[in-house]
Amino acid sequence: QTPHCYEALTVETLPTRLIGVADLAARVGNDPASWSVQEVGDGNLNLVFIVTGPSGRVVVKQALPYVRLVGDSWPLPLKRAFFEYHALTRQAARDPGMVPDIYHFDEAQALIVMEYLSPHIILRGKLIKGERVEGLGKALGLFCARTAFQGSDLAMNAGEKKADTALFSGNVELCDITEQLVFTDSYYDAERNHHTPELQPVVDELRADPALKAAAQYMLMRFTSGGETLMHGDLHTGSVMCTDTDTKVIDPEFAFYGPLGFDLGMLIANYLMAYFSQPAHRSADELEGYQDWLLDVTRETSTTFHAEFVRLWASERTGILYPPALWEDQGQSSDGARDALLNHIWNDAMGFCGVELHRRILTLAHNADFETIEDTAARAKLEARSLDMGRTILLARPSNTDDLIALARATNAK
Ligand code: ADP
Ligand code: MG
Ligand code: MG
Ligand code: MG
Repeated sequence: QTPHCYEALTVETLPTRLIGVADLAARVGNDPASWSVQEVGDGNLNLVFIVTGPSGRVVVKQALPYVRLVGDSWPLPLKRAFFEYHALTRQAARDPGMVPDIYHFDEAQALIVMEYLSPHIILRGKLIKGERVEGLGKALGLFCARTAFQGSDLAMNAGEKKADTALFSGNVELCDITEQLVFTDSYYDAERNHHTPELQPVVDELRADPALKAAAQYMLMRFTSGGETLMHGDLHTGSVMCTDTDTKVIDPEFAFYGPLGFDLGMLIANYLMAYFSQPAHRSADELEGYQDWLLDVTRETSTTFHAEFVRLWASERTGILYPPALWEDQGQSSDGARDALLNHIWNDAMGFCGVELHRRILTLAHNADFETIEDTAARAKLEARSLDMGRTILLARPSNTDDLIALARATNAK
């Protein structure tokens, strides 16, 4: 039934098209007439279907040959499903249980059949509603540290890492999106940009700062040339699904070999945007407590990342980098080397955090934290804080989590 050539699925055609996928039928039931199909994709790029049958439910994610948010005027290769599938398998091995189980992958159809996460919902939505997730910072700090460390030359066999770098180096077009949208478009009047009208004076000031552009482009150079580990590549709060006590990570189609601190920095930026947007979403009596919780999550993510990296350094340093032969085997401590490397990772993370704080407000893909604020004057005031913090961070990196959090509080009080 499945054609050899790619064809986008629809709610109507999915059952007949996927009837032969044994791993799907085994989960939902053998009779496709008994399946009900819903399209739930709310992302910017792909189709996502939920297939429900008498014995269960699965998610079918299929890439489209263009950017969903924009339409067929912006083609995007189907191969991103291949990168997403391979990234999911590596993440599942490096941090078991943190990504959906994969049941089936069809490269020609650019589709992945995976575990339906339930009752998980997208973290960004929870943060806008003011809900808390127990263990959030811990789970994501562990995920960032485990995937970063184990995907790098600190842990991997050098030949395997080079082969994997070659495999993911084909993810050119998704990297191009990041390279343009995250690092570059914010700082000039790019065609697909848009921003809240009341922000114009702030935007003009930002784009008049040559040092800021240089700092952002330096981070772009780190992104394109710092092939240190397999990054998730798109780790914002819309790529995290949670219940009140459980956290999972989805959607790694932007996966690529890049800096160890990239995912951590992007994630922290998204916590901070949730933080800055809260005055528009919470009543006065809830606001302070909830904003404090968001900063606690930021702190917990960062301290967990650090602690887990230290643990892995001691127990899983099996790659070519910083080998124990140079320190421990000679009765010496590698703590100084480790801490210097952790400083480098944090410094990068802060740079990536800074550009992300800009691009979600100034370029093509905005986030619901700010976008759902209908009063544009109120929205601009809160967005200006995010822009301001991004600029401060890019020009002078906070040296640790305490400094970052103090800066967030001071910026929120402006
Ligand atoms: P895109 O790449 O287009 O952003 P995502 O992978 O982020 O697509 O998925 C889009 C939406 O589909 C998510 O925001 C989420 O609501 C839903 N979704 C995706 N994967 C799952 C899953 N495994 N279980 C439940 N819902 C999912
Ligand atoms: Mg997504
Ligand atoms: Mg868990
Ligand atoms: Mg995606």
